[in-house]
Amino acid sequence: MKLYNTLTRKIEEFIPIDDNLVKMYTCGPTVYHYAHIGNLRSYIMEDILEKTLMYNGYNVKRVMNITDVGHLSSDSDTGDDKMVTSAKKQKKTVLDIAKFYTEAFFKDFKKLNIKKPEIIEPATNLIPEYINFIQGLIDKGYAYISGGNVYFDTTKLNDYYVLTNHKEDEMVVGVRQGVENDSSKHNQADFVLWFTKSKFEDQELKWDSPWGLGYPGWHIECSCISLKYCGENLDIHCGGVDNIFPHHTNEIAQTESYLGHKWCNYWVHCEHLNDKNGKMSKSNGDFLTVSLLEEKGYNPLSYRLMCLQSHYRKQLVFTYESLNNAEQAYKKLKQKTLSLREEGNVNEDSFKFYNEKFTSALNDDMNTSSALTVLYDVLKDNNLNDATKKELVKSFDKVLSLDLTKQNTNDLDEEFILYVENQIKLRTEAKRNKDFKLADKIRDELKEKKIEIKDTKEGTIWLVK
Ligand code: AMP
Ligand code: ZN
Repeated sequence: MKLYNTLTRKIEEFIPIDDNLVKMYTCGPTVYHYAHIGNLRSYIMEDILEKTLMYNGYNVKRVMNITDVGHLSSDSDTGDDKMVTSAKKQKKTVLDIAKFYTEAFFKDFKKLNIKKPEIIEPATNLIPEYINFIQGLIDKGYAYISGGNVYFDTTKLNDYYVLTNHKEDEMVVGVRQGVENDSSKHNQADFVLWFTKSKFEDQELKWDSPWGLGYPGWHIECSCISLKYCGENLDIHCGGVDNIFPHHTNEIAQTESYLGHKWCNYWVHCEHLNDKNGKMSKSNGDFLTVSLLEEKGYNPLSYRLMCLQSHYRKQLVFTYESLNNAEQAYKKLKQKTLSLREEGNVNEDSFKFYNEKFTSALNDDMNTSSALTVLYDVLKDNNLNDATKKELVKSFDKVLSLDLTKQNTNDLDEEFILYVENQIKLRTEAKRNKDFKLADKIRDELKEKKIEIKDTKEGTIWLVK
């Protein structure tokens, strides 16, 4: 399996540390707001990565944090804590806000068929670990206390910018957005490990520490959560490209200084989803959520398909036109896959042939659009019987996760499903008796209940709109 590694800026063969188990860390959401579909593009890509690894036979231990403290409005450790601002606005506590948006986040995961990581850890759960880690950095001379805060001293490293092409002079105030002056820092690139002093008095969550009552900086959580669950060596660390600097750069700096050796072998980053104004973000421009797309009548899996149609390392511009196209493509695809019968025997050679093509597309730095082409090739191949096609589709869907062989009945109760199937039988009978008026009436009634039916040569299939 080949992956683009941001660390080496090359496509490399993926070799796990342990033959049987891949340890994978994903930066989780900052839960002060709903996730937008841009955030979710990154999580869809990470889901594809985890499932591709599993498809290749690896066991995967995947860990994700939930940022519920310490992520300030500017990446350079200034501004208000995003969680506190949101709580104040909504007149709720920070923990209520975190709980609400964490639940909303995982509802979106479910709608997009993104597998939940095996371990999910809120940042506020590991405060003693952060304190130990920071103390370790102070003891080794990598951190200093200034103006009440503890900072990481980036000048102690020869290769602080190992993950990025950032030049130190770009870190001068005013050059890069989000860089503000902090007179307590010894060097502009230094970053906060622990805050005791902040511009705002009403930080809700504070903990005792050897440096005074305070709270952790943003980057520390990912280092410590990863160390706790994955140990001192990590195979893959992922996130969106905006995480490369400063977040992942700082994670590497502090973790490798703490450990005294290399920490993570592969850094995998997803390019952004943009809207017409540029990068989709929680604070700027259109804020598109999965629920909003649903309210507009779209199936969330059409958005998943739209993401899979492009390569994760290319920027993707969101327009309703492209979503409409994806929705049409999804409906057509599903109609084809649902009409496959299980008749005949699976042809093992054909299965192997197409499965290898599919796997090698995914193993080519997660080329999901090529993998989709293999799926279409299977459906088009007149030499394949339905049973073989269906088996291949089912297998591919372990990674694609588009519910290709499943009626979308997640939200329907059994009674309703029985009712729909019964109505379809009545309609088929009506058609057989040439009672087209009744047949149309049944179809219209189902349509009103958001059930779309389609007659295929193999029989009538139905979809939830
Ligand atoms: P946040 O909740 O802001 O911490 O971001 C959660 C994840 O979404 C991180 O991995 C970000 O890098 C990623 N992300 C943020 N904005 C976008 C975007 N427009 N497109 C793709 N990924 C994004
Ligand atoms: Zn992180």
